[in-house]
Amino acid sequence: MARFIFITGGVVSSLGKGLASAALGALLQARGYSVRLRKLDPYLNVDPGTMSPFEHGEVFVTDDGAETDLDLGHYERFTGVAARKTDSVSSGRIYSNVLEKERRGDYLGKTIQVIPHVTNEIKDFISIGEDEVDFMLCEIGGTVGDIEGLPFFEAIRQFSQDKPRGQCVFMHLTLLPYIKASGELKTKPTQHSVKELRSIGIAPDILVCRSEGPIPQKEREKLALFCNVRPDSVIAAQDLKSIYEAPLAYHREGLDQAVLDAFNIAPAPRPNLDRWEDVADRIYNPEGEVKVAIVGKYTQLEDAYKSIAEALTHGGMANRVKVNVEWVDAEIFDTQDPAPFLEGYHAILVPGGFGERGTEGKIKAAEFARTRNVPYLGICLGMQMAVIEAARNVAGVKDAGSEEFDHEAGKKRFEPVVYHLKEWVQGNHTVARKVDDDKGGTMRLGSYTAVLSPESKVAEVYGDTQIEERHRHRYEVDLKYRDKLETCGLAFSGMSPDGRLPEIVEWKDHPWFIGVQFHPELKSKPFAPHPLFDSFVRAAKDTSRLV
Ligand code: GLN
Repeated sequence: MARFIFITGGVVSSLGKGLASAALGALLQARGYSVRLRKLDPYLNVDPGTMSPFEHGEVFVTDDGAETDLDLGHYERFTGVAARKTDSVSSGRIYSNVLEKERRGDYLGKTIQVIPHVTNEIKDFISIGEDEVDFMLCEIGGTVGDIEGLPFFEAIRQFSQDKPRGQCVFMHLTLLPYIKASGELKTKPTQHSVKELRSIGIAPDILVCRSEGPIPQKEREKLALFCNVRPDSVIAAQDLKSIYEAPLAYHREGLDQAVLDAFNIAPAPRPNLDRWEDVADRIYNPEGEVKVAIVGKYTQLEDAYKSIAEALTHGGMANRVKVNVEWVDAEIFDTQDPAPFLEGYHAILVPGGFGERGTEGKIKAAEFARTRNVPYLGICLGMQMAVIEAARNVAGVKDAGSEEFDHEAGKKRFEPVVYHLKEWVQGNHTVARKVDDDKGGTMRLGSYTAVLSPESKVAEVYGDTQIEERHRHRYEVDLKYRDKLETCGLAFSGMSPDGRLPEIVEWKDHPWFIGVQFHPELKSKPFAPHPLFDSFVRAAKDTSRLV
């Protein structure tokens, strides 16, 4: 049976709870344990799939087709364990399950209440697959004291009582603000946060304290005394230059040792941190730099393209270069020449996205990359933009566009080179969709196979002709235009196994121009950079040598 680690946060949000959880997962793996990480989010959306990236950052998609919190991306990148549908849940999902059961009559006439019905539903979720791993790490979203988080805190409190003594450990992440005027790190907000946690019955075993600098012994002792934890369980989490140093930094601070001590595991197996030392070496000792433009819509919020930024970093690590990412708002050159905005970059990436805003700019970015021989990676919408650009400017389909934009505008303005998918094959059945279906969870989601043409660039990049990648889209390039586009040099080099859905396009006579209908960024890891990002950054490196 797994041991459980519950990770909660206090004082303020955005302290890096997800990262701390992911790094701890990596450290437990380094000591030979198997782990699984889970996120429990108190918000009421059933999942983040329908939330704007401005609200919630990127939506991370799992192999089994769940649209989840971006923290699951951190978990996967640090542990390499593929997340599943059952690793992410929200209040919305919990309540909807409970209400569904109530309608079915499963509660046999009982009055349905937060305790025990909602808390039981949460506890059932936490224990899914508990026999599969040594450690289950469950992060509770938000901060202690949030009204909507209460059922989750109550559930984990009960859970630790249901389990044998010593089976559950609570780790609380807080902030130690530094007051310049007095030159002090302040412990009071942490004391209050722990008090809040204890008032609902949870006594943290480990305190992880975010601070700008080291925690002096005096403050450490004060925290231990007032928060009722052991001094060596007060762990400093100092700001780092790279998130990939986090496992090493937390290890230096003694986090993994403190966790094993809290479980009374002695002697603790020795950790093997070679993987993370190599990762840190590659991050901190690059041999060159490249500049990549991400031309998108949500450029004010980096979290919107979190996995892409990380995958580019991984590509840089594979090539021993630092990738300087610059976010370029596509809307700026919707109606003007993109050259002044795009010149000087060694590669251009157009990411996924939804809706028409900024798409003319993205189409121009694809044209710029094609005609100037700049490496281009188009992801999902970025592939669709490249196809529309090719149709309009090379194949003579002057009004080429996507049905997505016509649906949004409520009128027909484009020839739909990209159309609304009505059906596709998943495993051994056909999935059907209508334009007016619900928006939540109805896209083509999760892992699907693509078959690559043997002579293509992508087959060379992957070193394979069959790949599995994660998808999240409603629209698709129309096969009707294949012949026309291929005659012009845009090869459809990756297709769904039934040959009906274009998965990859590439310009044959271009140094590096690839569009993919899926999201390769979701599977990249610092210790196993995704082949497309490895190759794309290598192409950027080659370009940087030319200029
Ligand atoms: N909006 C496009 C579609 O639904 C692209 C989606 C994406 O980029 N993830 O097909």
